[in-house]
Order: sequence, then C-alpha cells, then structure tokens
Amino acid sequence: MDLSVIIPIYNEEENIPALYERLRGVLDPMQLPGGYEFIFINDGSRDQSLALIQTLATRDERVRYINFSRNFGHQIAVTAGLDCTRGEAVAIIDADLQDPPELIPQLYATLREGYEVVYAKRRSRQGESAAKKLTAKLFYRLLANITHISIPVDTGDFRVISRKVVEALRRMPEQSKFIRGQISWIGYRQTYLEYDRAERAGGETGYTYRKMMKLALDGITAFSDFPLKVATISGFLVSGVAFTVMLYTLYSRFVTRDYEPGWASLMISILFLGGVQLIAVGIIGEYIARLNANVRQRPLYIVSDTNLPPAASAPGAG
Ligand code: UDP
Ligand code: MG
Repeated sequence: MDLSVIIPIYNEEENIPALYERLRGVLDPMQLPGGYEFIFINDGSRDQSLALIQTLATRDERVRYINFSRNFGHQIAVTAGLDCTRGEAVAIIDADLQDPPELIPQLYATLREGYEVVYAKRRSRQGESAAKKLTAKLFYRLLANITHISIPVDTGDFRVISRKVVEALRRMPEQSKFIRGQISWIGYRQTYLEYDRAERAGGETGYTYRKMMKLALDGITAFSDFPLKVATISGFLVSGVAFTVMLYTLYSRFVTRDYEPGWASLMISILFLGGVQLIAVGIIGEYIARLNANVRQRPLYIVSDTNLPPAASAPGAG
C-alpha cells in the first residue's frame, strides 16, 4: 500500500460525494503501484454521512471506515485513522474541500524527494469570518512564541507524512491531542508547500468556538510551560510590589507619622492580589485537568462499527 488518505467526518453529507470524486480524480492518475486506500472516520455525525460512506464502501473496496460511538472530536478522529493506516505514506485532509485534493500529488512527490513530513501552509483563507481568521492568526503566533519546538504558523493538519512519522505518533499516548504540534516535535526532515485555502464547499463548520478554544489550550499546555511560568513570575512581581508598599506603610506609620487611615489602598491591593492568585490557580488547574486525563488512561475513542479487519483496527478501541 503506497498511500492512505485519512478523512475525519462530522456532518459532511453535502461534501462526501464531491470529495470522493475529486480524490479519485487526483489519486487514480498518480498510478501508485502499491495502490491507495481511503479511511473515513465518522465522528458521531448526526446526518446521512455514515450511510453515504457505507454505500461508497460497498462499491469501492478501497474505502474503509470507522464509525465512532459518538463525537470525539477532530484530533481524535485523525488519531483513529492513523491507528489503522497501512500506507507507506499517509495524507490527512478535511472533508469540506477547504484543503484542495489536487495538492496531494505534489505533497506526495515532495515527500518522495526525501522528506518525512510535507505540510500545506495556508497562503490565504477564503470564506471564513474575520473573527476566525484573527483568532487563528493570533493563536499560531502566540504558540510559535511560547513553545521551544517550532510549530509552523498558519498550518492545519492537511499534510502527507511517512510511515516513520505515523509509527512515532502512535507511540505518543497523550490524551489531549494536538497532532500538528506532535509532528513538529517528532522532527525528521520536514518541508511545506503553500496553497490558497478555499471556502467550505457545503454544510457548516463543525469547529465551534468551544472546540477551537479546547484545541488551542491543548496545543499550548501540551507544548509549553510558559503559562505556568507567567503565573509564577507575576506572583513574584506582585509580591515584590506588595512588599515595597508594606515597607513604605510601616515607614510612614512609625517614622514620619504622616498617614491616612486609607481603605482605598487596602481594597485595591486585596482585589489585585486576589485576581492574580485566581489567575495563577486557574492556569495550574488547566494543567492538572490534563494530567488527570492522562492518569485515567481511558481509550481515546470507542468504535461502534467498521469494515476494517480486526487486526488492523486500533489497540484498546471498541
Ligand atoms: N471534524 C470532526 N469532528 C469534529 C469537528 C470537525 O471530525 O468534532 C472534521 C470535519 O468533518 C472536517 C474537519 O474535521 O473534515 C475540519 O472541520 P471544519 O471544516 O468544521 O473546521 P474548520 O475548517 O472550520 O476549522
Ligand atoms: Mg473546514
């Protein structure tokens, strides 16, 4: 098997037929001697997506699918796909045609030139709200600044990776997945191609602000201790200021005896200190929550049904 294409699906009934046609349109002419396969992961869709995939699977034996028991999220869906790929190279692509399938042959050709990862970097993005673009831009810049591994900016999970990288990813058991960060962490020779990101072909985004927030926090907490350090440093700074003010208060009380019975300063310092403490506790809480998830060691996902042979399906799932 030369190439496996992983496609996470969450309510994509409007896009699946067109996606399948376009993928075949670019993969068939590649004339891969070992062949290719599609791996659809139905992430708890509430529409006709599963039925569409199953129909494709009866007509085309290269179509394999995993049906989750509920919505586990995009990153987990991709992880499940990685768990059962057989290809020497693996492509990850969104189902909504925002990532052009026509780029896959180029990504694949570049991989064969001697890279282990070729990711697709967004030169521009169309049809997305200004708020989404701005938050995405800020997030990628922030992440680049506070992590010590270089996670490429303006890049999603659309990429082609080699078997080596898939095996390395499968050895990373963390529960809060941020796959693009994990791939950067793995290393090897990586490069990128640029493309213009299209509008969503049909349907609506499955990434609510809540899911984006979770992805952003997962990415930051998995690859950076910076927020924890900020909590510590601001704690020291605030204590330093408080200590100086305390000295000054004692000085004016006992030496110059020039003081006001001031409740204003009291209130301000109590409120300020309380705020800083709450922020610090909150940040620590974010990390502890993730620690806790890892300690529980639950399987990442539960498979409801699949047309994959049992040996190839994921460890610990189902
Ligand atoms: N997706 C998923 N589970 C989810 C949300 C999204 O598998 O909970 C899939 C979705 O079907 C698509 C890809 O992840 O193939 C990217 O999602 P989407 O296009 O909604 O995100 P956006 O492009 O708006 O960031
Ligand atoms: Mg999309």
